[in-house]
Amino acid sequence: MAVNLTKMTPFRMIGNLYFVGTLEASSHLIDTGDGLILIDTGYVENAPLIIESLAELGFDIKDVKIILHSHGHGDHTLATAELLKHAPLAKTYVKKEDEIFLRGRFEPDYDMSDGDVIRLGNTEILILETPGHTRGTVSFFFDVTENGVTYRAGMFGGAGTNQLKKRYLDSATKWRFPYRLRGMFFDSVERLRREKVDVFVGNHARQNKTPEKYELMKTASANPFVDPTEWGIFLDAVEARLMGIIKDESRTEFVNYAHRGASTYCPENTMLSFYTGVYMGANGIETDVQKTKDGVLVLYHDDTLGRILGIEGSIKDYTYEELLAYDVKNGELRDKIPTLDDFLSHFKNFDLTFAIELKVAGIEREVADMIRKHGCEGKVIITSFIFGAIEAMKECAPELRVGFLTRLYPKDVEGDEKEKRVIADLIRIGADEICPAAGDFTPERVERWHRLGFRVRSWDISNRDVMKAVCDAGADGMTVNFPDKLTEYIKEQV
Ligand SMILES: [Zn+2]
Repeated sequence: MAVNLTKMTPFRMIGNLYFVGTLEASSHLIDTGDGLILIDTGYVENAPLIIESLAELGFDIKDVKIILHSHGHGDHTLATAELLKHAPLAKTYVKKEDEIFLRGRFEPDYDMSDGDVIRLGNTEILILETPGHTRGTVSFFFDVTENGVTYRAGMFGGAGTNQLKKRYLDSATKWRFPYRLRGMFFDSVERLRREKVDVFVGNHARQNKTPEKYELMKTASANPFVDPTEWGIFLDAVEARLMGIIKDESRTEFVNYAHRGASTYCPENTMLSFYTGVYMGANGIETDVQKTKDGVLVLYHDDTLGRILGIEGSIKDYTYEELLAYDVKNGELRDKIPTLDDFLSHFKNFDLTFAIELKVAGIEREVADMIRKHGCEGKVIITSFIFGAIEAMKECAPELRVGFLTRLYPKDVEGDEKEKRVIADLIRIGADEICPAAGDFTPERVERWHRLGFRVRSWDISNRDVMKAVCDAGADGMTVNFPDKLTEYIKEQV
């Protein structure tokens, strides 16, 4: 695919720093006195333009000794392979986590780590790990001197937030980027705020108004690239942009999960209940999985069979055939216990999210295999109150999203301490969703969980008032026994 690039006149920005990119893909050059450093290269089409730009500035591509890449996306790396043919001395740097984007176009010579300093000639470039835009995004800081004054230059290696939208994070089936990238992004912004930057170097030309400043330079007496306020203002803006995306999604991507189906009205966890939930406007179904004596994965909530089937024992004590002798009831309505296989066959082609709760540990692999068999990896979130079960699920099926059901603020425990512990554990295993009880929800806490990168979903919605309170606190979804009332409330909000 050809990219139509807007060629910009190459020029000296400040000191030994030059702009040699295009409007769409930035590329910067540092003349260290002992060879050249290129920061980012751009699309394939950028390669000849960069060579031309260097020549226009009186440099030779052959003298490039280092090519740094802020992250792995194509608009920063695709031109590198071609440039290397003309710059045989150049060593390339890409952070290891981002090699997945290179697809073998070139083999980077070096990884980068937080706090590394890359030295060449008169220049020292400090590397900071600032993941979020991608897992391997790094930022660069170095001194530039002009008219005897030394300034600190800084580039945020990945400030874009678009690809952190839910639909992009969800669409990459093979990689399934974690929601946690959002939390990393916020952490990175905090980290970058501590750097003092006089010269903000954009990694896209529009970020730091490179074209406008280029025009200004022709007439202005002071160098317009020197502005110690710009860095902080920019970081505030990108942070607000991501929080805006997340808040918008809590409305546009809100999931109304029919909890065990429309279980207020129907026998819970039955086909009747699930279909009724969908007809009531739910865009998600929540259900529970256990395994029978003969190894069938079935949808059933309780540990015992008394409340629902009126018999002794639990699911594991009966074969599926035996269980089919009993009905699940709700008033006059009755239906049978369904299998997970059946459930997925019926609903996989609906535009629905499935929250599948593991009621027991040890069935993770079988559940994952069943989900894969139906190609439902992208529609499912696996949840449990058993932390070990979601941890094991993440290990055997990293492509599946997992969420943890918990009551963070029970009356008898130090809620804040429990929350800290839970969050540390969820970050460690790469969980995507935190599912606290309705009573735990306040707008402040939801914002805090969002900043960590989690999707936030509630359970234990006892009545319509609780339902509204959780919605208003900014949750991304909830399981509810009366999805019709939630559908109605969501409509009222628009
Ligand atoms: Zn990018």
